[in-house]
Amino acid sequence: MTHELEQLFEFLRFPSISTDSRHAGDVRACGEWLVAKAGELGLSAELHDTPKHPVVLARNVHQQGRRHVLIYGHYDVQPVDPLHLWTSDPFQPEIRDGRIWARGATDNKGQMFAHLLGVGKTMAAAGDLPVNLTFLFEGEEEIGSPNLAGFLEQNRELLACDVIAVSDTGMVAPGTPTLGYGLRGITCGELIVRGPARDLHSGLFGGAVMNPATAVGQLIASLHDADGRIVIDGFYDDVRPLEAWEREMWAAVPGVSEEDFLKVTGAPSLFGEKGFTPAEQTWARPTAEVNGMGGGYQGEGSKTVLPAEAMAKFSFRLVPDQEPGDIIRKVKSHFEKHCPPGVTLEFIPGHDGKPYHTDPHGEFGKAAQEALRKSFGQEPVLIREGGSIPIVQSFREILGADTLLLGLALADAQIHSPDENFPVENFEAGIRMNQALLEELA
Ligand SMILES: [Zn+2]
Repeated sequence: MTHELEQLFEFLRFPSISTDSRHAGDVRACGEWLVAKAGELGLSAELHDTPKHPVVLARNVHQQGRRHVLIYGHYDVQPVDPLHLWTSDPFQPEIRDGRIWARGATDNKGQMFAHLLGVGKTMAAAGDLPVNLTFLFEGEEEIGSPNLAGFLEQNRELLACDVIAVSDTGMVAPGTPTLGYGLRGITCGELIVRGPARDLHSGLFGGAVMNPATAVGQLIASLHDADGRIVIDGFYDDVRPLEAWEREMWAAVPGVSEEDFLKVTGAPSLFGEKGFTPAEQTWARPTAEVNGMGGGYQGEGSKTVLPAEAMAKFSFRLVPDQEPGDIIRKVKSHFEKHCPPGVTLEFIPGHDGKPYHTDPHGEFGKAAQEALRKSFGQEPVLIREGGSIPIVQSFREILGADTLLLGLALADAQIHSPDENFPVENFEAGIRMNQALLEELA
């Protein structure tokens, strides 16, 4: 195993699960490890406390007259359950079939660490970088970056930069370099429906009392029509239509055909908003998804109960120019309007983030395309991303800089799922990409 992989494995062994307070110490230890590692590579680095998990900043010696490039990544990871579906321990990385298997391998430790090692390589070879560089690594991305915008505001001058690069998005197909110029936004919420004062006998009272689980089912079903279109009033009002060049380019992009989606998802067939390809549905159209639902008896066998309460959790992916606050208000009034009689409804809004869009044909976009061409030896494709990185919008609003999305994740990387993985090849390409990118941006 190469020294580069050994260092990545060390990084991957930290169970830096940001959502679980039992792992707060692991998140911090992981941040401290990063500070030490950046120092070894010739950068000056510090841990900055926030109300929750710390931010790591690392930089070279800045000189006047050079471009300031900020590279962002996150060192926290998602939980690992269900653990029994992992082929190997999520925090004991292994290489099988040319891939690294571990929680965080792709999202985001493998990708962000490739940038750090790329910088280390350039520093070792040339003694310095061609640009003023700042690394910003956060430990709260997987919980919606609650403290990062505040951190940016407090350090606005230190972090003011010309352009930002992030590798936390996808490559459309193995070997096809991909530049992302858009992200979907998000808004979340939880629905709690309450009925009788306590769980009831379904024989003695069933038929006379509205069942909260039934009500939740009805409310979920009220979100879409039979063509997969969302029927919340005004939901599509601010959706920016796709441009002709986008539809044309995306039709030729490898890795996003119906067959590809079927293969990657394992779904028996695809279903989505009519009139759009899967790439268009996931990159440029908004969604309404149920992320979880519950209520009543969940144990073995049957229990004839009419539950007092039922719940569902939702996320809505948004596209330019939808506003999260506007959408969540529309969602709430939709549920209120469609709530059946005999129950009460509580809707609790969750975290949100605005959608993002930039011009891929601008000066920095062109430099990024050239870096991708050089490091992969292939023509890059330009895409938008289905996922959300709300902080990218905050970068624009607070630091005034646009973000280049240089994703290295493959569609079957299983991020957030068991058996997350990252090809060794992509890790190595990421190191080369960082070196080419800083040169092009300079
Ligand atoms: Zn993630």
